[in-house]
Amino acid sequence: MDPPLASLLEDAPFLHSLADALGSPLNVLIPEVVAENAERFGAVYRRHHLSGRVYFAHKANRSSALVRRLAACDPSAVGIDVASLAELRHALGCGFTGDRVMATGPKDPEFLWLAARVGATVNVDSVTELEQLAALVGAHGLGRTRVLVRLSGFESDHGPAGAGTRVLSRRSRFGTPVAEREAMWAALERHADSVELVGLAYHLDTIGLEEKGRALERCVLLMDECRARGFAPRVVDIGGGFGVGYVEDAGEWERWTTALSEAVLGLRPPLTWRGHGYGLRNDNGTVRGAAALYPAHRPLAGPGYLDELLSRRSPVLGRASATLLLEHLHDLYVEPGRALVDQCGLSLARVLEVRPLGDDPGRYLVRVGMNAADVSLEEHGVLVDPVTLPRGGPRHEAADGGPVGVHLVGNLCLEADLITRRLVFLPHLPRVGDLLAFVNTAGYVMDFHAHHAQRQPSARTVAVSREAGGTWRWCPDENYWPLTHPQGRPS
Ligand SMILES: *Cc1c(COP(=O)(O)O)cnc(C)c1O
Repeated sequence: MDPPLASLLEDAPFLHSLADALGSPLNVLIPEVVAENAERFGAVYRRHHLSGRVYFAHKANRSSALVRRLAACDPSAVGIDVASLAELRHALGCGFTGDRVMATGPKDPEFLWLAARVGATVNVDSVTELEQLAALVGAHGLGRTRVLVRLSGFESDHGPAGAGTRVLSRRSRFGTPVAEREAMWAALERHADSVELVGLAYHLDTIGLEEKGRALERCVLLMDECRARGFAPRVVDIGGGFGVGYVEDAGEWERWTTALSEAVLGLRPPLTWRGHGYGLRNDNGTVRGAAALYPAHRPLAGPGYLDELLSRRSPVLGRASATLLLEHLHDLYVEPGRALVDQCGLSLARVLEVRPLGDDPGRYLVRVGMNAADVSLEEHGVLVDPVTLPRGGPRHEAADGGPVGVHLVGNLCLEADLITRRLVFLPHLPRVGDLLAFVNTAGYVMDFHAHHAQRQPSARTVAVSREAGGTWRWCPDENYWPLTHPQGRPS
């Protein structure tokens, strides 16, 4: 944890008073951090002398405070990537002008219309979608709309598709396969009066630098192909997926994953509820399968990952990717989601029940006022331990003994409602009324999957900021605006 999040966590009385007033679960966001993260991406651009924008992938978090704080950043440096009509409306209402908006994802006609109407850039997935957009622009007399063409299915060589061509990137339901680009160029020519090709894009759901480096170079080469066809593209958009390092200590992560394998083999007691293997299985004494886990320890993540991607030599031309972009005078767009909200917030849950597991001495069930969808760690394979915030301040823990293994269960009447299937080792047994703080949940974990099953309340979200004297101030997420309040501090 970095300073703002770490110091927020140290103010347990403040977090207890918030949860007392607003209930459990509760999400707490620090909008200032999202602006700092955008600035860190900007610093990588400057280091490589590149221009272009950082587009926040809105889907990572529903918050208004984060989007408004980003809207207040330098318009030439920060934009937003929206993937639905509602996200587009939200971004506009938070202060983004249309020219700072990128429309991605599955698009219905209303979404396309509003995007074109406000002058957003449309990241087009297919010829069908392009035709649909061009028809709307024509029928409604909208301005010529800027489009990026999203590509997928990058091959390893640059010859025509056929013998010897290996497809390197995994299959995606989004984007136009590189091998089918000809039909896209033809459609762009047909509709040149309604759409303008401003560049090429990809978003690869991988952490592989190699795969991304190849795709980037391929896009640069395809930009030349577009120019030769008479288009004037100027942007390469390399999508998101820069990632977050959730666990600082590599050894800790190594030890746990090794222990998981040993548990799957039966060499040690299970580390999970009912021996769940996270995708690993025991095949006659050998561990098989791949752990479906987010690589929690990531020495290269976020802006550092972008820096490395730009510095690496490209596979064919053998130049640093940043140099390729620079020499061609291309702008670089990125669409970080998770990485831009790194260290931006935490999720709180009240401990409601602590009960020994009769058949498993020394282990406990801890039931909390939240369910698995309120903090979807399992869904995303993110494994981080919560931090206990004792009720009434730090207590003399001797009576509670040392580290204790607990299963964290949620508030639904459902066997599967486990906050994590992992056995979590807390330094001390928590007590009813304590808070558990799940840190660094702003990227997807906090509210992507939140629902109202059993009419349980979903978390309220608050935005907090630190006063000059060190005290924290809060407001409901929807009331946050990036203004200076009477005390002279950004709210
Ligand atoms: C989800 C998504 C992103 C953000 O991905 P992260 O892994 O959160 O950085 C960016 N672009 C597109 C098109 C996406 O679908």
